[in-house]
Parts: sequence; C-alpha cells; structure tokens
Amino acid sequence: MTYNPRKIRLLMALRGAGVTDTKVLAAIERIPRELFVPEAFQDRAWEDTALPIDLGQTISQPLVVGLMTQALELHPRHLVLEVGTGSGYQAAVLSRLCRRVFTIERLKPLLREAEERFRALGIHTITTRLGDGTRGWPEQAPFARILVTAAGGPEPPKDLTDQLAVGGVLLIPLGTDHRDQRVVRFRRSEAGLIREDLWPVRFVPLLSDPPQSVRSA
Ligand code: SAM
Repeated sequence: MTYNPRKIRLLMALRGAGVTDTKVLAAIERIPRELFVPEAFQDRAWEDTALPIDLGQTISQPLVVGLMTQALELHPRHLVLEVGTGSGYQAAVLSRLCRRVFTIERLKPLLREAEERFRALGIHTITTRLGDGTRGWPEQAPFARILVTAAGGPEPPKDLTDQLAVGGVLLIPLGTDHRDQRVVRFRRSEAGLIREDLWPVRFVPLLSDPPQSVRSA
C-alpha cells in the first residue's frame, strides 16, 4: 500500500473522534475511498466530509462510516444487511469485517456503478439487490446486523425489525425533520427491541416505494 499522508491524517482524526476499534480503522485504511467518489472530487476523497455522488445522493462522511461500523459490533461470522448502497463504500468497508453483506439500493445507475467497483476491487462477499430496502431481504433473513444509511421517520420500518435475528443489532438514522436526526441502535432480545439513541447525524431520506399495484395505477 502506498503512503498517503491525507489518509494517515484522516485515520488519526477518526481515532481522535472516537473510532477506536483497530479493525474498523484497518478496514477504512484498506478500502480506497478515491474509487467511490466522482472524478471531480478525487482530491477530496480522504477529507472527513460527505461528498456528492450521482442522482443527488451522497457518499457518507468517513467519521460517520467509522462510528456506525463500530457501533454495529461486527463479528466475522455475521450476515449483514445494508439499506442504501449509494457509492458502495460503506458496503465495501463492512465486507472486510463480516462474512457477507447484502446491500439494497433503489437507484439502478448507482447500484450498477457500485457493483463495478466491487468487481474492480475483487470483493466477492457483497450481494446486491435493486429495490426498496425498507422491505428488507426476506429470503436471506434473519440478519445478525442491519445498517440503514438513509434517514427514516420516527420508527424503523417493521420489515427490517422483523428480519433482525435475536441478539441482532439494527442501526438507523431516525427523525421526523432532516435537521433533527439521530442514529438509533436497536438490539433484539427474546423479550423485544431495546432502543438506544446515539449521536446526531444528517442523512438523505429513506424513500419508500409504493407497492407495484399503486405505482402502476
Ligand atoms: N452507504 C452509501 C455509501 O457508502 O456511499 C451512502 C448512502 S446515501 C447517504 C443513501 C442511499 O440510500 C442513496 O443512494 C439512496 O438512493 C438510497 N435509498 C434511499 N431510500 C432507499 C430505499 N428505500 N431502499 C434502498 N435504497 C434507498
């Protein structure tokens, strides 16, 4: 790996800001973020900032990726569902830390580009799906971990909580107003869901597609 002072500075900043899990830091170090950002932002790939990608979407801020990945408490055996593939960067980071990532994106051009990046990087443990991630991926459930990288309403989608394994963790930004979102962690116990509000964030909205019959009416 070539020495990149911007990358080193970013990793030190992430550690200073609370990303202390060395496996998470190593995963961020290994995934070339410059491959996930548009040409025009290449020189900013290792800045700690969200950047625009196509179709009005964003690649998340590295600190948010680091903190959310850390808050998932991943194990190499885990099956992880991500909702909101976007550039594919978060999925690529997750893939370094778990057995398989299932990632869903509703915008086809973004998903196709992300798939090309996974191929180019030789990552074969990410499975993709085009569609509405609020419905989850029932055929692959239950998931040990679910990560939503777009902001939902006041409560997480029921299909996602239903597809969370007992002992599993769901992480999702929630809030009714885009200026007032929080990452919320839900743990599924035998008795139900335990909610824990973590830190404030600002994500693009989680959009729920209407059912097919309504859409074609
Ligand atoms: N994880 C991404 C990355 O690493 O680049 C960043 C995700 S971006 C902030 C949010 C993404 O969620 C967008 O690409 C958007 O199209 C997608 N999205 C929003 N609602 C969705 C839904 N219901 N199902 C699937 N994807 C959705």
